[in-house]
Amino acid sequence: MSNWLNGKVIDNRRLNEYLTSLIIDADLGGYEAGQFVRIGLPDGDDVLARPYSLVNTPQERHLEVYFNVVEEGPLSPRLFDLQAGDDILVASNPSGFLTVSEIPDCKHLWMIATGTGIGPFLAILKSEAAWEKFEKVVLCYSVSYASELAYQQVIEMIQARHGEQFSYVPVVTRESRPGALDKRIPFLMQDGSLEQTTGIDLNASDSHVMMCGSSHMITDVSAELNGRDMKKHRRRDPGHFTTEKYH
Ligand SMILES: Cc1cc2nc3c(=O)[nH]c(=O)nc-3n(C[C@H](O)[C@H](O)[C@H](O)COP(=O)(O)OP(=O)(O)OC[C@H]3O[C@@H](n4cnc5c(N)ncnc54)[C@H](O)[C@@H]3O)c2cc1C
Repeated sequence: MSNWLNGKVIDNRRLNEYLTSLIIDADLGGYEAGQFVRIGLPDGDDVLARPYSLVNTPQERHLEVYFNVVEEGPLSPRLFDLQAGDDILVASNPSGFLTVSEIPDCKHLWMIATGTGIGPFLAILKSEAAWEKFEKVVLCYSVSYASELAYQQVIEMIQARHGEQFSYVPVVTRESRPGALDKRIPFLMQDGSLEQTTGIDLNASDSHVMMCGSSHMITDVSAELNGRDMKKHRRRDPGHFTTEKYH
Protein backbone atom coordinates (compact mmCIF):
# COMPACT_ATOMS: atom_id res chain seq x y z
CA MET A 1 0.00 0.00 0.00
CA SER A 2 1.29 3.44 -0.87
CA ASN A 3 1.21 6.36 1.52
CA TRP A 4 0.68 9.54 -0.43
CA LEU A 5 2.97 12.53 -0.05
CA ASN A 6 1.55 15.94 -0.90
CA GLY A 7 3.65 17.45 -3.65
CA LYS A 8 3.55 20.71 -5.61
CA VAL A 9 4.26 21.14 -9.28
CA ILE A 10 7.19 23.55 -9.66
CA ASP A 11 7.28 23.60 -13.45
CA ASN A 12 5.77 21.96 -16.51
CA ARG A 13 8.49 22.02 -19.19
CA ARG A 14 6.76 21.10 -22.43
CA LEU A 15 8.89 19.82 -25.28
CA ASN A 16 5.94 19.75 -27.70
CA GLU A 17 2.19 19.07 -27.68
CA TYR A 18 2.57 15.55 -26.30
CA LEU A 19 5.89 15.37 -24.40
CA THR A 20 6.67 17.10 -21.13
CA SER A 21 8.75 17.07 -17.96
CA LEU A 22 7.06 17.82 -14.66
CA ILE A 23 9.25 19.21 -11.90
CA ILE A 24 7.79 18.37 -8.50
CA ASP A 25 8.53 19.41 -4.95
CA ALA A 26 7.83 16.48 -2.60
CA ASP A 27 9.60 15.06 0.41
CA LEU A 28 10.49 11.66 -1.01
CA GLY A 29 12.85 9.56 1.12
CA GLY A 30 15.75 7.42 -0.11
CA TYR A 31 15.90 5.88 -3.57
CA GLU A 32 18.45 4.96 -6.22
CA ALA A 33 19.06 6.57 -9.60
CA GLY A 34 16.98 4.63 -12.13
CA GLN A 35 14.02 3.89 -9.87
CA PHE A 36 10.40 4.89 -10.42
CA VAL A 37 7.62 6.18 -8.20
CA ARG A 38 3.84 6.27 -8.49
CA ILE A 39 2.46 9.73 -9.24
CA GLY A 40 -1.22 10.44 -8.74
CA LEU A 41 -4.13 12.84 -8.72
CA PRO A 42 -7.36 12.66 -6.72
CA ASP A 43 -10.13 10.79 -8.51
CA GLY A 44 -13.33 11.02 -6.48
CA ASP A 45 -12.52 9.35 -3.17
CA ASP A 46 -9.60 7.48 -4.73
CA VAL A 47 -6.19 8.31 -6.14
CA LEU A 48 -5.57 7.67 -9.84
CA ALA A 49 -1.88 6.85 -10.11
CA ARG A 50 0.69 5.42 -12.51
CA PRO A 51 4.41 4.64 -12.15
CA TYR A 52 6.91 7.14 -13.59
CA SER A 53 10.70 6.89 -13.66
CA LEU A 54 12.61 9.64 -11.87
CA VAL A 55 14.84 11.65 -14.20
CA ASN A 56 16.48 13.47 -11.29
CA THR A 57 19.27 11.99 -9.21
CA PRO A 58 18.55 11.33 -5.52
CA GLN A 59 20.81 14.31 -4.72
CA GLU A 60 18.78 16.79 -6.76
CA ARG A 61 16.34 18.99 -4.86
CA HIS A 62 13.24 18.37 -6.98
CA LEU A 63 11.69 15.29 -8.52
CA GLU A 64 11.41 15.18 -12.30
CA VAL A 65 9.33 12.88 -14.48
CA TYR A 66 9.30 12.82 -18.29
CA PHE A 67 6.29 11.41 -20.12
CA ASN A 68 4.10 11.51 -23.18
CA VAL A 69 0.34 11.96 -23.33
CA VAL A 70 -1.58 8.77 -24.05
CA GLU A 71 -4.73 10.35 -25.44
CA GLU A 72 -7.09 7.57 -24.38
CA GLY A 73 -5.33 7.18 -21.00
CA PRO A 74 -6.98 8.44 -17.81
CA LEU A 75 -3.96 10.01 -16.07
CA SER A 76 -1.32 11.24 -18.50
CA PRO A 77 -3.56 13.93 -20.15
CA ARG A 78 -4.40 15.30 -16.69
CA LEU A 79 -0.74 15.35 -15.66
CA PHE A 80 0.15 17.09 -18.94
CA ASP A 81 -2.20 19.97 -18.10
CA LEU A 82 -0.80 20.64 -14.62
CA GLN A 83 0.79 24.01 -13.98
CA ALA A 84 3.23 25.45 -11.47
CA GLY A 85 1.55 25.62 -8.04
CA ASP A 86 -0.84 22.69 -8.65
CA ASP A 87 -1.08 19.87 -6.11
CA ILE A 88 0.15 16.40 -7.03
CA LEU A 89 0.45 13.15 -5.09
CA VAL A 90 3.67 11.15 -4.90
CA ALA A 91 3.78 7.65 -3.42
CA SER A 92 6.19 7.30 -0.53
CA ASN A 93 7.75 4.04 -1.78
CA PRO A 94 9.94 4.40 -4.90
CA SER A 95 11.08 1.08 -6.32
CA GLY A 96 12.51 -0.71 -9.34
CA PHE A 97 15.49 -2.79 -10.41
CA LEU A 98 16.84 -0.62 -13.23
CA THR A 99 19.73 0.50 -11.05
CA VAL A 100 23.50 0.15 -11.19
CA SER A 101 23.60 -1.72 -7.87
CA GLU A 102 21.56 -4.56 -9.43
CA ILE A 103 24.01 -5.12 -12.28
CA PRO A 104 26.65 -7.86 -12.00
CA ASP A 105 30.26 -6.74 -12.47
CA CYS A 106 31.26 -6.41 -16.13
CA LYS A 107 33.19 -4.02 -18.39
CA HIS A 108 30.57 -2.30 -20.50
CA LEU A 109 27.12 -0.96 -19.67
CA TRP A 110 24.71 -0.50 -22.57
CA MET A 111 21.58 1.57 -22.01
CA ILE A 112 18.91 1.27 -24.67
CA ALA A 113 15.91 3.59 -24.53
CA THR A 114 12.91 4.25 -26.72
CA GLY A 115 10.96 7.49 -26.29
CA THR A 116 10.37 8.53 -22.70
CA GLY A 117 12.37 5.47 -21.59
CA ILE A 118 15.38 7.81 -21.59
CA GLY A 119 14.32 9.07 -18.12
CA PRO A 120 15.90 6.55 -15.75
CA PHE A 121 19.10 6.48 -17.81
CA LEU A 122 19.55 10.23 -17.38
CA ALA A 123 19.34 9.78 -13.61
CA ILE A 124 21.99 7.03 -13.80
CA LEU A 125 24.24 9.00 -16.17
CA LYS A 126 24.10 12.09 -13.94
CA SER A 127 25.08 9.97 -10.90
CA GLU A 128 28.52 8.60 -10.09
CA ALA A 129 28.03 4.82 -9.64
CA ALA A 130 28.04 3.80 -13.32
CA TRP A 131 31.22 5.75 -14.07
CA GLU A 132 33.01 4.08 -11.17
CA LYS A 133 31.80 0.59 -12.05
CA PHE A 134 32.12 0.35 -15.87
CA GLU A 135 34.96 1.02 -18.33
CA LYS A 136 32.54 2.20 -21.00
CA VAL A 137 28.95 3.37 -20.86
CA VAL A 138 26.81 3.47 -24.02
CA LEU A 139 23.50 5.29 -24.37
CA CYS A 140 21.42 4.35 -27.40
CA TYR A 141 18.32 6.57 -27.55
CA SER A 142 15.72 5.92 -30.22
CA VAL A 143 12.78 8.13 -31.19
CA SER A 144 10.57 8.41 -34.25
CA TYR A 145 11.23 12.08 -35.10
CA ALA A 146 14.26 14.27 -34.39
CA SER A 147 12.11 16.78 -32.46
CA GLU A 148 11.43 14.01 -29.90
CA LEU A 149 15.11 13.77 -28.90
CA ALA A 150 14.78 15.32 -25.43
CA TYR A 151 17.46 16.34 -22.91
CA GLN A 152 20.13 16.87 -25.59
CA GLN A 153 21.88 19.56 -23.53
CA VAL A 154 22.00 17.26 -20.50
CA ILE A 155 23.49 14.52 -22.68
CA GLU A 156 26.07 17.00 -24.06
CA MET A 157 27.07 17.86 -20.49
CA ILE A 158 27.44 14.18 -19.64
CA GLN A 159 29.56 13.73 -22.79
CA ALA A 160 31.77 16.69 -21.82
CA ARG A 161 32.20 15.36 -18.28
CA HIS A 162 33.00 11.75 -19.19
CA GLY A 163 34.70 12.00 -22.61
CA GLU A 164 35.64 8.67 -24.17
CA GLN A 165 34.16 6.64 -21.32
CA PHE A 166 30.75 7.63 -22.74
CA SER A 167 29.32 6.78 -26.13
CA TYR A 168 26.03 8.34 -27.23
CA VAL A 169 24.12 6.92 -30.18
CA PRO A 170 20.95 8.82 -31.13
CA VAL A 171 18.56 6.94 -33.41
CA VAL A 172 15.75 8.61 -35.38
CA THR A 173 13.66 6.05 -37.24
CA ARG A 174 11.11 8.03 -39.28
CA GLU A 175 13.23 10.81 -40.78
CA SER A 176 16.89 11.35 -41.38
CA ARG A 177 18.85 13.49 -38.97
CA PRO A 178 22.58 14.23 -39.31
CA GLY A 179 24.57 12.30 -36.70
CA ALA A 180 21.76 9.86 -35.90
CA LEU A 181 21.32 6.26 -37.04
CA ASP A 182 18.02 5.61 -38.80
CA LYS A 183 16.96 1.99 -38.27
CA ARG A 184 15.17 0.30 -35.40
CA ILE A 185 17.58 -0.84 -32.68
CA PRO A 186 17.23 -4.62 -33.26
CA PHE A 187 18.28 -4.07 -36.91
CA LEU A 188 21.22 -1.91 -35.80
CA MET A 189 22.32 -4.85 -33.67
CA GLN A 190 21.82 -7.40 -36.43
CA ASP A 191 23.70 -5.46 -39.09
CA GLY A 192 26.54 -4.58 -36.69
CA SER A 193 26.14 -0.79 -36.95
CA LEU A 194 25.60 -0.27 -33.22
CA GLU A 195 28.93 -1.89 -32.40
CA GLN A 196 30.64 -0.23 -35.36
CA THR A 197 29.46 3.22 -34.27
CA THR A 198 30.59 2.78 -30.68
CA GLY A 199 33.67 0.64 -31.36
CA ILE A 200 32.55 -1.64 -28.51
CA ASP A 201 31.60 -5.32 -28.73
CA LEU A 202 28.26 -6.29 -27.28
CA ASN A 203 28.81 -9.77 -25.87
CA ALA A 204 28.05 -12.03 -22.91
CA SER A 205 31.51 -11.82 -21.34
CA ASP A 206 31.88 -8.01 -21.23
CA SER A 207 28.45 -6.45 -21.37
CA HIS A 208 25.28 -5.77 -19.46
CA VAL A 209 22.33 -4.23 -21.30
CA MET A 210 19.60 -2.15 -19.67
CA MET A 211 16.48 -1.51 -21.74
CA CYS A 212 13.63 0.86 -21.04
CA GLY A 213 10.56 1.85 -23.05
CA SER A 214 8.30 0.04 -25.47
CA SER A 215 7.61 -3.67 -25.20
CA HIS A 216 8.26 -4.11 -28.95
CA MET A 217 11.82 -2.88 -28.61
CA ILE A 218 12.39 -4.91 -25.44
CA THR A 219 11.03 -8.13 -26.97
CA ASP A 220 13.07 -7.76 -30.17
CA VAL A 221 16.32 -6.68 -28.49
CA SER A 222 15.95 -9.48 -25.90
CA ALA A 223 15.65 -12.02 -28.74
CA GLU A 224 18.75 -10.58 -30.37
CA LEU A 225 20.66 -10.81 -27.08
CA ASN A 226 19.44 -14.38 -26.51
CA GLY A 227 21.04 -15.15 -29.87
CA ARG A 228 24.34 -13.90 -28.41
CA ASP A 229 24.06 -16.29 -25.43
CA MET A 230 22.88 -13.46 -23.18
CA LYS A 231 19.95 -13.99 -20.84
CA LYS A 232 17.66 -11.86 -18.68
CA HIS A 233 19.20 -10.93 -15.33
CA ARG A 234 17.53 -12.01 -12.11
CA ARG A 235 18.88 -11.61 -8.61
CA ARG A 236 18.79 -15.36 -8.05
CA ASP A 237 19.97 -16.19 -11.56
CA PRO A 238 22.42 -13.51 -12.75
CA GLY A 239 22.26 -12.68 -16.44
CA HIS A 240 23.12 -10.05 -18.99
CA PHE A 241 20.16 -7.77 -19.44
CA THR A 242 17.63 -5.87 -17.34
CA THR A 243 14.37 -4.46 -18.66
CA GLU A 244 11.64 -1.99 -17.76
CA LYS A 245 8.53 -1.98 -19.94
CA TYR A 246 6.44 1.20 -19.97
CA HIS A 247 3.78 -0.15 -22.33
C1 LIG B 1 7.60 0.86 -14.03
C2 LIG B 1 6.98 1.84 -15.01
C3 LIG B 1 7.54 3.11 -15.16
C4 LIG B 1 6.99 3.99 -16.07
N1 LIG B 1 7.60 5.20 -16.27
C5 LIG B 1 7.15 6.02 -17.26
C6 LIG B 1 7.83 7.24 -17.57
O1 LIG B 1 8.82 7.61 -16.91
N2 LIG B 1 7.38 7.98 -18.60
C7 LIG B 1 6.28 7.59 -19.35
O2 LIG B 1 5.93 8.28 -20.34
N3 LIG B 1 5.59 6.47 -19.05
C8 LIG B 1 5.99 5.69 -18.02
N4 LIG B 1 5.28 4.57 -17.71
C9 LIG B 1 3.92 4.42 -18.25
C10 LIG B 1 2.96 5.21 -17.32
O3 LIG B 1 2.92 4.57 -16.06
C11 LIG B 1 1.51 5.30 -17.83
O4 LIG B 1 1.05 4.03 -18.22
C12 LIG B 1 1.37 6.27 -19.01
O5 LIG B 1 1.79 7.59 -18.64
C13 LIG B 1 -0.10 6.37 -19.47
O6 LIG B 1 -0.92 6.63 -18.35
P1 LIG B 1 -2.49 6.76 -18.53
O7 LIG B 1 -3.14 6.63 -17.19
O8 LIG B 1 -2.81 7.99 -19.32
O9 LIG B 1 -2.89 5.49 -19.44
P2 LIG B 1 -2.80 3.95 -19.00
O10 LIG B 1 -4.14 3.50 -18.51
O11 LIG B 1 -1.64 3.71 -18.09
O12 LIG B 1 -2.48 3.28 -20.38
C14 LIG B 1 -3.39 3.34 -21.48
C15 LIG B 1 -2.76 2.58 -22.65
O13 LIG B 1 -1.59 3.28 -23.11
C16 LIG B 1 -0.45 2.41 -23.12
N5 LIG B 1 0.73 3.23 -22.73
C17 LIG B 1 1.24 3.40 -21.49
N6 LIG B 1 2.31 4.21 -21.51
C18 LIG B 1 2.46 4.56 -22.79
C19 LIG B 1 3.40 5.38 -23.45
N7 LIG B 1 4.40 6.02 -22.78
N8 LIG B 1 3.29 5.53 -24.80
C20 LIG B 1 2.29 4.91 -25.50
N9 LIG B 1 1.38 4.09 -24.92
C21 LIG B 1 1.46 3.93 -23.59
C22 LIG B 1 -0.80 1.34 -22.10
O14 LIG B 1 -0.09 0.13 -22.38
C23 LIG B 1 -2.29 1.17 -22.29
O15 LIG B 1 -2.56 0.34 -23.41
C24 LIG B 1 5.83 3.64 -16.81
C25 LIG B 1 5.25 2.38 -16.62
C26 LIG B 1 5.82 1.50 -15.75
C27 LIG B 1 5.19 0.12 -15.60
